[in-house]
Amino acid sequence: MSTTVKKLLPTSTAGSLPKPSWLAEPEKLWSPWKLQEEGLIEGKQDALRLSLQEQQHAGIDIVSDGEQTRQHFVTTFIEHLEGVDFENRKTVKIRDRYDASVPSVIGAVARRQPVFVDDAKFLRQQTNQPIKWALPGPMTMIDTLYDAHYKSREKLAWEFAKILNQEARELEAAGVDIIQFDEPAFNVFFDEVNDWGVATLEKAIEGLKCETAVHICYGYGIKANTDWKKTLGSEWRQYEEAFPKLQKSAIDIVSLECQNSHVPMDLIELIRGKKVMVGAIDVATNTIETPEEVANTLRKALQFVDADKLYPCTNCGMAPLSRNVARGKLSALSAGAEIVRKELSK
Ligand SMILES: [Zn+2]
Repeated sequence: MSTTVKKLLPTSTAGSLPKPSWLAEPEKLWSPWKLQEEGLIEGKQDALRLSLQEQQHAGIDIVSDGEQTRQHFVTTFIEHLEGVDFENRKTVKIRDRYDASVPSVIGAVARRQPVFVDDAKFLRQQTNQPIKWALPGPMTMIDTLYDAHYKSREKLAWEFAKILNQEARELEAAGVDIIQFDEPAFNVFFDEVNDWGVATLEKAIEGLKCETAVHICYGYGIKANTDWKKTLGSEWRQYEEAFPKLQKSAIDIVSLECQNSHVPMDLIELIRGKKVMVGAIDVATNTIETPEEVANTLRKALQFVDADKLYPCTNCGMAPLSRNVARGKLSALSAGAEIVRKELSK
């Protein structure tokens, strides 16, 4: 990392934060923009500044753009690629769980120009803090579109991995310290994860010198996901499927959902040696955690992660929450991490 994180238990978020109501309707996924053209470009930059300021105000150590310039964490990236028709959207079932209106792949995919690199440069200009930038992972990308061209999830995933690698190299050059790939699909398609999911992820990080992370969660706090979680029983062991392969992979950091989830914390033992972003904030409830609750989750995780490898984080993105709730949760995360930091320094 160019700006090394020396502080113990550096805090960060999984990625997205709520947008201001003048930019897009709040508490809604795929919320349409309220501005157009020049006004939209300026509005997105202003929102990014605000989002950064809110993270800084809450004392977050590794900051992000809050994903203020994207409508959605996957489809916005896909829509910038050649070979994709995003006007004639198709409805498909994503994560084996819920219907979503998504872009279609209609020809060979290619990245003709950078997608987020200007946004990353803009964020870099605003702060000297370490920056984490989120990109969708190859498997989650292919699970969030309609493919009328390749007709093979694996083949398309390899194409996306090459494209993601091009983008990641330019993000690194723009000064991003940690590049994170969001792979909620890793918690659903276990055979594919082991056959080619982790391999395509490693293709996406090939040659990078900055740190790399993979974020695996149980999704945003929307109804389809909370309903799904109710079917998973009292012990969620999904992570067990991908962890052995991830432990051997070149990925530096694994970002996980741990707060209020039924994930047995000892599963983290399976990725011993990796840095772990421990989700200590539940994004599926408006109840703001107390600092002590956050601290408790971090203490439990410390049984299985060395303190210098533990990064307190949120379970997932906070885009669908209200700004007030998100602000409260960011502050709770900082305060909870500080409690444990003090304990560790004794
Ligand atoms: Zn997530």
